[in-house]
Amino acid sequence: MIVYDLHCDNGHRFEGWFGSSADYDSQRERGLVDCPECGSKTVGKAPMAPAVGAKGNKEEPRAPSKDAQLSNAPMPPEVEKALKQLAKAQAKALESSTWVGDKFADEARSQHYGEKDEVPIHGKATKKEAEDLASEGISVAPILFPIAEPDKLN
Ligand SMILES: [Zn+2]
Repeated sequence: MIVYDLHCDNGHRFEGWFGSSADYDSQRERGLVDCPECGSKTVGKAPMAPAVGAKGNKEEPRAPSKDAQLSNAPMPPEVEKALKQLAKAQAKALESSTWVGDKFADEARSQHYGEKDEVPIHGKATKKEAEDLASEGISVAPILFPIAEPDKLN
């Protein structure tokens, strides 16, 4: 079982339990997912910051909160090491992904609706664009570590 943070078009948030992400998709398509508060069937996964536009069966991480959580406590070496490894793993994952800059939402949508081949992309989107993607059921995930934007280099 997996749990998704869902929201309806009236802004209610609630949790939905599904057997799998495919189960969620099929229930949503058949209008079986509705808001417990207002009954709206216009339901989407709660917005997430966009990143790699790869669709798949992998679970999306929860939406990061807007406020950064900070600490000045000394970081244990193993944490620092783990973070570096994660950053490296992310960089490797993005190697095969194409930077699309501000066009992320358009590109992710074109792929989702089959107008374009599905290829890994990453880029930027506004909060509104990210919410729109989520409400259309387009799976995107946040980039965990800030990356240098290729179009800002040079
Ligand atoms: Zn509602």
